Amino acid sequence: MFLRLFLVLVTLLATTLAGWLPGGWLGAWGGAMAGALALAGLQVWRGMRLNRWLAAPDPDIGAPPPPLRGLWGEAAWRASKLLRRERRQAQENAQRLQSFLQAIQASPSGVALLDADGRIEWFNQTAAEHFGFQPGRDLLQHVGNLVRDPAFATYCADGDFSRPVKLPGRHNTPTHPVTLSVQLHPYGEGRKLLQSTDITTLAQAEAMRRDFVANVSHEIRTPLTVLMGFVETLQSLPLSAREQANYLSLMAAQASRMQMLVEDLLTLSRLEGSPPPSDAERVDLQAMMHQCEDEARALSRMLHASEDSAQELVFDAVPDFSLTGAAKELRSAISNLVVNAVRYTPAGGRIHVRWLRLNEGGARLEVTDSGAGIAPEHLPRLAERFYRVDRSRARESGGTGLGLAISKHVAQRHGGELLITSKLGKGSCFALQFPASRVVLGGAQEMAARATAAGTGSDSDRGDASV
Ligand code: ADP
Repeated sequence: MFLRLFLVLVTLLATTLAGWLPGGWLGAWGGAMAGALALAGLQVWRGMRLNRWLAAPDPDIGAPPPPLRGLWGEAAWRASKLLRRERRQAQENAQRLQSFLQAIQASPSGVALLDADGRIEWFNQTAAEHFGFQPGRDLLQHVGNLVRDPAFATYCADGDFSRPVKLPGRHNTPTHPVTLSVQLHPYGEGRKLLQSTDITTLAQAEAMRRDFVANVSHEIRTPLTVLMGFVETLQSLPLSAREQANYLSLMAAQASRMQMLVEDLLTLSRLEGSPPPSDAERVDLQAMMHQCEDEARALSRMLHASEDSAQELVFDAVPDFSLTGAAKELRSAISNLVVNAVRYTPAGGRIHVRWLRLNEGGARLEVTDSGAGIAPEHLPRLAERFYRVDRSRARESGGTGLGLAISKHVAQRHGGELLITSKLGKGSCFALQFPASRVVLGGAQEMAARATAAGTGSDSDRGDASV
């Protein structure tokens, strides 16, 4: 600073002296003025250079400042430092905004930002899918013009955004329902964030839960009402011992129906709540199939005792392989299919049960019957809980409506599937198909021999059909 002042003074002194020597005092005055003007001109020229650099378009601000000396040089250096810092900050802010938008873009929820007038300023890909927004067309459009559901209009008009509103999705159809949960979140000065979530699965699960509770209540109420009727009859009428015995046996049948239902419900909940069966346990298929055969023959005799022709039951020998998994579960799944075949096939019909090895190494159990068959429209829903083709007939035949649901669940837990083919009036084939990873070749004979030696059949196969 002092040095600069000193240089200015020296320059002025020098020009004054230079004027004084040839021209005396007048010359000295002229020399001083000329020196001052030259110094001022120099400063103006430097200032103009700096101003030109500052006024340059944005990219040039990153360029070095003009090489100025003195005060202007220092000002240029400081301005350049300030601009560089601001530029860096602007870049950082832009990057932060970019990653923020990328995060919202990656969100599974739809997000649209609305200005104070409700016009769309920005939206992510999910919102575009949910509402059919298009970037080029719909930016700065009023959201009410694009989301035209009356429920959304009422929601906006009410102004209570503390809860979401449910709207049908863009691709909603009666066969493929799509439900969106949409909520507005106010922020800033009158702005709003529109958030949308696809809750189709949740809504379906909720509807299924409601149906399930209604079905269970209905299934339990029916035998319970019958049971109550019998109890009242027994209480109010003077009945003979034979009549009483008759009523008691009818009551026992209703009670056992309720018991079967509760057992099947527990089975299903156990299947849903437990981890998939390990492949450490080997299942003795031969012993299991013998038990199923005995059970099927006994049921067939019981159901068709009064009829002329009996059902023909054919159980092929099990090939030399076994499965790994949970024996009780598999027993339950197979038994359900065999018992259904007996129940839904009239007297004189044929039921054929066989195991097959598949080309790719898997295995399949097929239960084929010559019963009434099932119309194609029922097939996709047949394994749903409580789904019945003929409600009254199925109940009469004593089923719980959960058998196929259990079989399907068990197959899936073993990596397999339940396959159903049927022709109305011709019969049906219910198959449990298992992947190669569950099939163990050979050893079935030794297993059966060991089980026979133990005197009871395989331990894991013993017991009733409940899992
Ligand atoms: P249910 O206890 O009513 O038999 P399931 O889940 O075992 O319940 O079977 C569901 C429905 O599938 C039955 O009500 C019946 O309408 C149909 N069904 C099952 N097996 C057969 C079959 N072998 N032949 C014809 N219909 C069948």
